[in-house]
Amino acid sequence: MTKKKRRSRIGIRWQLFGTLALLTVVFIMVLWVFQIRLLSYFYEKEKFSEMEALAAELVTNADDEDFLEKVESHAREQDTCIRLYAAYDLEKDIVKAHSAADCVIHYMTESQIAEIYELAEKNGGTYDRRLEIRNPMHGEGDEDFRLPMIHPRSDSINAIHARMLEIGGEDYLLILDVPLTPVSAVTKTLELQFLWIAAAMMLTALLIALIASHIIAKPLADITEKARKMAAGNYEPDFSVKTGYREVKELAEVLNHAASEIGATDRLQKELIANISHDLRTPLTMIKGYSEMMRDIPGENSPENVQAIIDETTRLSELVNDLMDLSKLQAGTQKIAPAVFDLTATVRDTMHRYDTLIRHEGYRIEFQSAGEAFVCADRVLILQVIYNLINNAVNYTGESKRVVVTETVENGRVRLSVADDGEGIPPEQIHEIWDRYYRVDKVHKRSVMGTGLGLSIVKGVLEAHNATYGVESAVGVGSVFWFELELCEPPTEQE
Ligand code: ADP
Repeated sequence: MTKKKRRSRIGIRWQLFGTLALLTVVFIMVLWVFQIRLLSYFYEKEKFSEMEALAAELVTNADDEDFLEKVESHAREQDTCIRLYAAYDLEKDIVKAHSAADCVIHYMTESQIAEIYELAEKNGGTYDRRLEIRNPMHGEGDEDFRLPMIHPRSDSINAIHARMLEIGGEDYLLILDVPLTPVSAVTKTLELQFLWIAAAMMLTALLIALIASHIIAKPLADITEKARKMAAGNYEPDFSVKTGYREVKELAEVLNHAASEIGATDRLQKELIANISHDLRTPLTMIKGYSEMMRDIPGENSPENVQAIIDETTRLSELVNDLMDLSKLQAGTQKIAPAVFDLTATVRDTMHRYDTLIRHEGYRIEFQSAGEAFVCADRVLILQVIYNLINNAVNYTGESKRVVVTETVENGRVRLSVADDGEGIPPEQIHEIWDRYYRVDKVHKRSVMGTGLGLSIVKGVLEAHNATYGVESAVGVGSVFWFELELCEPPTEQE
């Protein structure tokens, strides 16, 4: 990652602030539209419906005796101006309740009342009108409804609701009037308030972004710093963070785990190189020593010394071969070539290799077979597995010098186990013996021993075959190494 690239990316802080600021803007806009832009609309709508409700209530009480008092008392209670006219005489009102200031109905001429009456009649009995009255000094008002006597004071907007009603068979006209308070003054105050609220919210957004980003970004920056150290080869960093969100803590835990795993692999790698170099050096030193001795000391050119050199060379090539096999298996370049073969016969063949050991050193290697057991696997590699397991059993068996190889067939599978009665493996080390170069007690009992790679080759081969394998071992009792392969149909005669 170049420095330039890193700088061009937006950090959590600004991204968070951007999101919060956008949210604030949207929120303020929505509020602004509803609170300021649509305020007068909602307010006027509300006023008209209030008047309508009042008029409807009065109409239901129209036949009451105290109707006229009721009109007056309602006008007072609801701050509304009300006038009542008889249809036959629109010149003279019957009731003139003058409760609210700035009512305009009191200035209406007979012809205007008659016009309202007509409009209400046409409209099915009711008529709503929003009247804008302007002082001529301030400009034009409601053109088609000029009041002859212009409202004496300043400009005003009035809501007029007219309703026809019947009292004792006669038609009447009820006109209600509520002056509408101009909302512009209110909206101005609100607008200013909104500006302050917006500024305060932006500041809060910035503060939240700063705090939240500190909680997120700080531990992330710490983790990045430690990850850099890890990349430089320090596998000990402690990624754990004290503060931060759950996700950051989880990331830290995963990185801690990764660091310890990489650290362990790194240690194993170093150990491996040390072990390999040691194991290569030992036979080489011996070969060099013997050869120099044979060159320099007359009479040392004996067949025994030559044999010693040959033995060391054999060990050396065994080690190199094992290393090759293992690296091929681990790199996945070792292709298994499955073929059908009889496992029993293969084990028997392997047994012959131990004839000398049996004859000269008193070992007893028994094989309890299960008759024919055909499997489909790479014969050469499986042979290597059997050989490694028996070799180990021979190497680690106890005083009895007895090794038992058992073959059992069950549920379409064949199980081969190699048992010895040696010292066994401590339970805490049982998982590690499959690792390269792992040795339980680092000191070999027999001088002609394995390379320390045997079981990792066994593991590699068996895993490449998808075979199950394992070991049961008890300290002082012995160990049983086993593996299982699926049985196959035996090959037909022609094959
Ligand atoms: P080595 O060449 O040391 O035998 P292996 O990979 O074959 O290497 O085995 C790894 C280790 O597992 C051995 O060093 C030994 O400690 C342990 N081990 C393997 N087989 C046996 C066994 N049959 N009994 C006891 N320990 C065993």
